Amino acid sequence: MLCLGIESTAHTFSCAVIEKKGKNGKILSDIRKIYRPPEGEGIHPREASRHHAENSPQVLSDCLEKADVKITDLDMVSYAAGPGLGPCLRIGAVVARSLASYYGIPVYPVNHALGHIELGKMLTGAKDPLVLLVSGGHTMILAFLGKKWRVFGETLDITLGQLLDQIGRHAGFASPCGPKIEELASKSSNYEPLPYVVKGNDVSFSGLFSATKQIMPKGLETACFSLQETAFSMIGEAVERALSFTGKKEFLVVGGVAANKRLSEILQSICKRHNCKFFVSPKEYAGDCGSQISWVGLLESSKKTGTKLENTFVRQSWRIDSVEIPY
Ligand code: AMP
Ligand code: MG
Repeated sequence: MLCLGIESTAHTFSCAVIEKKGKNGKILSDIRKIYRPPEGEGIHPREASRHHAENSPQVLSDCLEKADVKITDLDMVSYAAGPGLGPCLRIGAVVARSLASYYGIPVYPVNHALGHIELGKMLTGAKDPLVLLVSGGHTMILAFLGKKWRVFGETLDITLGQLLDQIGRHAGFASPCGPKIEELASKSSNYEPLPYVVKGNDVSFSGLFSATKQIMPKGLETACFSLQETAFSMIGEAVERALSFTGKKEFLVVGGVAANKRLSEILQSICKRHNCKFFVSPKEYAGDCGSQISWVGLLESSKKTGTKLENTFVRQSWRIDSVEIPY
């Protein structure tokens, strides 16, 4: 089975082709174009969607060329139907719908968060992990039970990716700011106390965001170090409680923030204490990409037929815990 996956939930427009043989998937191509707002500014949904519309033909043709397949070779097309920014989501949906209707290919709307998790599992070999999804759009701890991914903790306000990006933008960096913050943090070991807010097994980052801005005059490296140590320890506490509660013997980190080495170090030490195998999504596939969407489409196609064209909607606030998993 050959599937073209289209991702366009936020900053990235990406097309990927995966070939599935039995239970195995092989990524034949994964092409991305990322919308970069001016330094100090965040994603403007209209500008990002214009970026996606302008780049979609080139990304699609590069993707097919790299995979060495023609559109008529494809067995199906899947697109990220949500959650995400409405104007951006609609570009991916329009491209998928157009290909499906013109070439008569089955089309599958896919949940973006599920894409992060399933591709992470496929690439690492994790079978039944507790999952930490940390990205621009999500901060969630999840485990699979009774046909659904259940949430064992999440953010009550902004996500971990938003926290890092908003602090970075405040300092005047270009988005996405996570790598720059990681680099500055690695140059300090001077911890300034910051608000640590874990409620039940949920986290809240808005107070940490305000307080970090206030300590910036003490030095950017100190501020970044203190921010990372506080936010990552909060996440670590929630993960450790979820691990104890669920008794899972595998743990997987996915999403763009999974690229952060300090976060992995903290989580790895927790896993060691719990005799739990630690997996992290490969850096290249941690952030948003078409492969995530292509792979979920292929998994669903083993149990479901494609969606009728008139039902190829986008859903900006489509929560992963509302999705019934058919495979
Ligand atoms: P995604 O939405 O999954 O594409 O993830 C994007 C988020 O990952 C953005 O908020 C980035 O700032 C963040 N990110 C990327 N690389 C790193 C890193 N090395 N450390 C922390 N955050 C990162
Ligand atoms: Mg994402």
